[in-house]
Amino acid sequence: QPTVGVLALQGDVREHQRVLTGLGAATLAVRTPGELDRVDALIIPGGESTTMWRLARTFGLLEPLRQRVASGMPAYGSCAGMIMLADRIEGGVTGQETIGGMDVTVRRNAFGRQVDSFEADLDFPALGATVPPLRAVFIRAPWVEKVGDGVDVLARVATGASAGRIVAVRQGPLLATSFHPELTGDARVHALFLDIVKEA
Ligand code: GLN
Repeated sequence: QPTVGVLALQGDVREHQRVLTGLGAATLAVRTPGELDRVDALIIPGGESTTMWRLARTFGLLEPLRQRVASGMPAYGSCAGMIMLADRIEGGVTGQETIGGMDVTVRRNAFGRQVDSFEADLDFPALGATVPPLRAVFIRAPWVEKVGDGVDVLARVATGASAGRIVAVRQGPLLATSFHPELTGDARVHALFLDIVKEA
C-alpha cells in the first residue's frame, strides 16, 4: 500500500492527514529529504506559499521536491500547494520560487480582497457523479490564469464575477485545486488523488 506524504513545513497538514487516514491510506508528515524519500506521493497543503517556499529552501527540500515531481511522483496541491506546483506564478513576492511541474500560470490571491474567503458549489465531472456538486472553500485563493496543452481543466467557478475561472487542474500524476477539500468533510478530491496514486 502506498504511503502518501503531506508536506509539513507550514499550513493545514493535519486536516489532509485526517482525510487520508479516513480513506484508509498510509500517511507521513514530510519535513526532511529523508522523509520525502519514504513517500510514494505527496500532498502540498494550503497555507502561505511565500513561507512554504522559504522554509523548503531552509530545510534543503526545494531541490529534492523538484527532483521527485520531475521524476513522476504523484502530487496534489491545494491552494498554496497549487501555487507551489505551478511552473509560473503571477503576484508572487520578489524572487518567489515554486517546485513547479505543472505547465500552468497561477495567480496568487486572485479573487481579490473583497472576497478573501468564500464558498461555492462546483461541477467537477472528474469525480464521477456530478451530483451532489462539490462544496469548495476558497481562502485568499489563487486561480489558474493559463494552462499548457497537456493540462486538463477539471473545474471552473460557475457563477458570479469570477465565473469561468479555472480552479482545478490535472497534468498526468499532478493534481491541483484553488480550494480546500480537506475542510469540508467531502473526501472525493482526495479519493481522486488516491486513484491517481494507484494508477502511477
Ligand atoms: N494566499 C496564499 C498564498 O499565496 C494561499 C492561501 C491558502 O493556501 N489558503 O500562498
